[in-house]
Amino acid sequence: MNNLIYLDNNATTQVDKRVLDEMLPFFHDYYWNPSSMYSPAGEVAQNLRIARRRIGKLLGATPDEIIFTSCGTESDSTAVYAALAALPEKKHIVTTRVEHPAIMNLYADLETKGYSVTYVPVNREGALDMRVLEESLTEETAIVSIMWANNESGVIFPVERIAEMTAEKGILFHTDAVQAAGKIPIDLSRTRIDMLSISGHKIHAPKGVGALYVRKGLKYSPFLLGGHQEGGRRGGTENVASIVGFGKAGELALEHLEEENTRVKALRDRLERGLTQRIPKAIINGESEPRLPNTSSISFEYVEGEAILLMMDELGICASSGSACTSGSLEPSHVLRAMGIPFTAAHGTIRFSFSIFNTEEEVDFVVEKLPPIIEKLREMSPFWEG
Ligand code: PLP
Repeated sequence: MNNLIYLDNNATTQVDKRVLDEMLPFFHDYYWNPSSMYSPAGEVAQNLRIARRRIGKLLGATPDEIIFTSCGTESDSTAVYAALAALPEKKHIVTTRVEHPAIMNLYADLETKGYSVTYVPVNREGALDMRVLEESLTEETAIVSIMWANNESGVIFPVERIAEMTAEKGILFHTDAVQAAGKIPIDLSRTRIDMLSISGHKIHAPKGVGALYVRKGLKYSPFLLGGHQEGGRRGGTENVASIVGFGKAGELALEHLEEENTRVKALRDRLERGLTQRIPKAIINGESEPRLPNTSSISFEYVEGEAILLMMDELGICASSGSACTSGSLEPSHVLRAMGIPFTAAHGTIRFSFSIFNTEEEVDFVVEKLPPIIEKLREMSPFWEG
């Protein structure tokens, strides 16, 4: 497995060894329930506090503004339901056409339960239509939920500016920052964002742990009712080892933020330059917009993304077509469709997503091996005319 070239870090990341080392004692040696009264359990509780402080620091939040959850999806649902419970008379919600299924499917369900939803469109480059967004905000609007950065295109939305707009109108604002955290600077103390979701497995912590930021003083009601864990804001005995790992990963993400925006970004740019120089009709999606430093969505016209993935897989190169959740279906993803990418290009779209563990040698290998793959596939395509 060591020869794999893993360029699918927006799907999930490898747990960092340094994270794993901090987690391991909490499976066997420090197994106590952090809510128990005896002193060894107090040590476990103390490590939860450290993790909460570290995640708070990653986000520019105070520790008591952080609630640990089981994943990004749970954080998203919790935020939306908390807002709707706080403003029960308001039945309108706003989001974008390019959210992750964690938000899309939640809103589709709410539409069957009497809520109306405005889905703000994006343009060909993946940028939000700010005019439609502004016009969609009404007295009826309970919550606006807009992702900080898109998982497929990497395009960054101006959520700090949007939070100003919503705050002035008394509307709650939530952002899904699952892909943004650890890749771009976030300082919630300087924004008017009310709630924010993140997930451990996108920043080299394990799968199955997430966090929700809830701004101090915000009216909040729990999604999971149960024990008094998380200050009564999320029932369920804490996933201690994973939370400890998440805290460490958050600390490391902050330390590596500059590297992410210099070395990792340079790897991404090297890949894009190398591929677009060697492959005709290769389009970088969202190129003119602010983008995550680690993400590249490239459409290779007149080829099937699945075929590219299979041929790269034979060489040990891992990437994805659209998002992990949409690959497997023949339809181009809802994100690519919302961006209006022509059918012939959307089908051949590959997302490459980097992490601090990638190297220049890996990029050069892909730049050498992918052009002949595309050429071969195009030769088989009835639509390709050279
Ligand atoms: N939101 C975005 C933007 C994501 O990319 C993902 C995962 O891919 C999620 C939410 C869901 O996170 P989790 O897998 O932790 O539930």
